[in-house]
Amino acid sequence: MSKLPHIGTSIFIVMSQMASEHNAINLSQGFPNFPVDERLTSILTGLAKENIHQYTPMSGLPSLLEKITNLTNQSYQRIISPKEEILITAGATEGIFATIQALVKTNDEVIILDPSYDCYEAPILLSNAKPIRISLSDDFTPNWEKIANATNKNTKLIIINNPHNPTGKTWTENDFLQLEKLVDAYPNLHVLSDEVYEYITFEQKHISVHHRPKLWEKSIIIGSFGKSFHITGWKVGYVIAPENLMIEIKKVHQFLVFSVSSIAQHAINEYINLVDVNAIGKFYQQKRDFFQNLLKDTKLKLMPCEGTYFQVASYASISNENDIDFTKRLVTEFGVATIPISTFYANNKDNKYIRFCFAKDDKTLIQAAERLRKL
Ligand code: PMP
Ligand code: GLN
Repeated sequence: MSKLPHIGTSIFIVMSQMASEHNAINLSQGFPNFPVDERLTSILTGLAKENIHQYTPMSGLPSLLEKITNLTNQSYQRIISPKEEILITAGATEGIFATIQALVKTNDEVIILDPSYDCYEAPILLSNAKPIRISLSDDFTPNWEKIANATNKNTKLIIINNPHNPTGKTWTENDFLQLEKLVDAYPNLHVLSDEVYEYITFEQKHISVHHRPKLWEKSIIIGSFGKSFHITGWKVGYVIAPENLMIEIKKVHQFLVFSVSSIAQHAINEYINLVDVNAIGKFYQQKRDFFQNLLKDTKLKLMPCEGTYFQVASYASISNENDIDFTKRLVTEFGVATIPISTFYANNKDNKYIRFCFAKDDKTLIQAAERLRKL
């Protein structure tokens, strides 16, 4: 008998596979298609000959932990302890899984805001806990009345994702004030803040849980070098949490993976000081503007994109099909792969929205737009 009867193959795998079968332009799964920084590849080449190929300490390479401390201080003016409060994980995915397994018990409730990224639900179910899926408002902002009504003394965790995949929405000061009120009212409640796109914001600067001292004691914050350094395949992420929570998270991590790829950690450790994280948002803002401009003369209606490398668009004026059928047809008839947004909802709510990943070179975006103009 399946432990996860309702969970199938991830839509990212399904659409990427479809893209390759039909030789379509793949704007579905979120990953960059341009080359990574040559400084990083040359660090990696040099390191291959060094004596760095054995296990690192369980919680991460000590010098990289120090550098994450410095980066957190530099980005958010928050001082954390490298030994006690940081864990390097096999991508954000493992950090999220380890956190949920460590902190959530049978019958606990965990609030997820839909449309939601797909890796939150399974670890909740495997903990015999209850995912409570609450829809965001129509403009993709959190609906605080609904969230407050769904919270009770059994709510162990609320999972937030800012900047938000798939919608590209970011949280406001008021959203954090509401969250602080909620955490204040429910002593059992913790916050799992998925901030993997922390450095990919545009007009507004990212507001992090790191900026909110009232939340620190109760929060676990997730980052990913995959997103920030355009290296999704390396699968290196990090968890930042207060020591009492981190002790528990490390217990799961040590039996899930024990430690993360040594060469990847060493390479990031050398590279991190060369990167200006403030430039990452500007880099993707140019791509967003370029892509939005290319889509201007299509029939797609673009939603605002405040962060991440995803653009949501409505195809309501083009077709009445549900979004799964529409995205399939977009691959087979028009040669462009995208993600149907209904798959991010518990009830598969179909609002005729699709998601494009614009972390692509200009040529790819131009070609995709040429095809989309035929819609
Ligand atoms: N959270 C969100 C919102 C994501 O978009 C992703 C993307 N892959 C992840 C977590 C997982 O990140 P990683 O690849 O570092 O595991
Ligand atoms: N985060 C990526 C996306 O949203 C996908 C990562 C994956 O395939 N697991 O497209």
